[in-house]
This record gives sequence, C-alpha cells and structure tokens, in this order.
Amino acid sequence: MSALRLTERVYLVGGGAYGLSDYGDCNIYLIDGGDALALIDAGGGGDVKRVLRNIREVGLNPGDIELLILTHCHFDHIGGAGGIKRETGCSVAAHEAEAGEIERLGPLTLYEMAKARGLEFEGVKVDVRLRGDERLEVGEVEVEVVHTPGHTPGGVSLLLREDDTLDLFTGDTASAQGRLGWINGPGCDLEEWKRSIKRMVELQPDRLFPGHGVFVLSGALDHLKLLDEKMNAPWINIVTTADFR
Ligand SMILES: [Zn+2]
Ligand SMILES: [Zn+2]
Repeated sequence: MSALRLTERVYLVGGGAYGLSDYGDCNIYLIDGGDALALIDAGGGGDVKRVLRNIREVGLNPGDIELLILTHCHFDHIGGAGGIKRETGCSVAAHEAEAGEIERLGPLTLYEMAKARGLEFEGVKVDVRLRGDERLEVGEVEVEVVHTPGHTPGGVSLLLREDDTLDLFTGDTASAQGRLGWINGPGCDLEEWKRSIKRMVELQPDRLFPGHGVFVLSGALDHLKLLDEKMNAPWINIVTTADFR
C-alpha cells in the first residue's frame, strides 16, 4: 500500500494505524508545495525506507523534501528523523523548547519506551528552532507555525491554507472525535493544553490532521469544540468516551 492523497496538497505517507508503516508510527503527513515538499513528523524510525517508498509510489521524489517539521519530541514522532534526514538531505525543524531533547534523546522523548518496543535510533540535529508564529516556505505554499504546548512544552501545530480551506496539523495536542492523547507524561501541563485547544478553536480550521487516529476532511471545528468541552468537563466526563454529536 502506498501513500494516501488526502487533499490537493496533503498526503498521508506513513502511520501504523493505517498500515502504511511500522505499527507504532504516528501519522506522517507530506505537504506538496510544487517544487518542494515538507514532511510533518517522522514516525518511530522502524520503517523509514517504506515511508520513502510510499512517497515515490505516488510519483513524488523524497529528494524534494526540504523540511521535516517535528510536532513534538516523543519517540513515535522523531525516531525516523535521522534516517529521513540522511536519505533526503532535508532540514529538521522543531520548537526550541524541545530541540535539545531531540538532539540528545532526553527524558521527554520517552526513548526508554522506544527501546522497550525494539526501536533504536540516535538524536538528530535540529536545524530550524521554532518559537511559534513563523511562516515556513515549502515551494509555493507557506506553513504557519502555532506554538501549542500542553501535551509537551514545545508542541507545535501547523496551518496550511489551500484556497479557502484551512488545514490544521495538530500532532498529539488534538485528535478527532475528542480523543485525548498521552496525559500526565513528563512535561505535560494540562492547563496549557486546555489553552492550546482554545487557540485551535479560534483558528477555525476546516480540516484536522492529527498525529494519531483518523483525520477529518471537513467540520474540524466540531471535533475541536468537543475536545475543548471534554477537557473542561468534570473528570468523569473526561475519562468517559464521549459520544460524538
Ligand atoms: Zn506525543
Ligand atoms: Zn504520538
């Protein structure tokens, strides 16, 4: 199975949940900017060659990947970064709060958990240290960086405008159907996380491309509002699976 084309400019090129790459991989998205490509997240590193093959199979050249943007430092998002950088010559971008973790595989990366799952990789140099509010050029499009801490301190989300439709890539900060991610891991801050969800609601995206689980091709705001509701509800409602309206 090769990559899935999700929109004019967005492909899903890896992800364990879709059987596109190693079981533990997060969703790996590719943005097609015409004469340049960007990847969002790298997976856990167990299947880099297959991810690159997926890209080739939809007629794109991995050598055109200029930028790999890491939404945060957890191992299932960064493990493949070193291999992808070696194979493509791309630059790696991540928030400055987590760049050191990614370079040295610090405790926030949960590398011990990665090793327990049979993964092994090295830290990778972060070439572009993000702070939020940057506009990153990818060929003929721009990707806007939004600092959305909470899941981890340096979580970033990415905005891409396609004509009059707004795509939001959320890493593990927000998922579809009000699904909550890894809460209470090292560096997690629930109050910041709640604020980040509110910020996402304000951005009014149409499509949602999360780091895990299903993606949403319209009506993203309904999903974010449900998440906002859940995160601010009494605890019993937070831990109970909410029915999607
Ligand atoms: Zn995570
Ligand atoms: Zn994850």
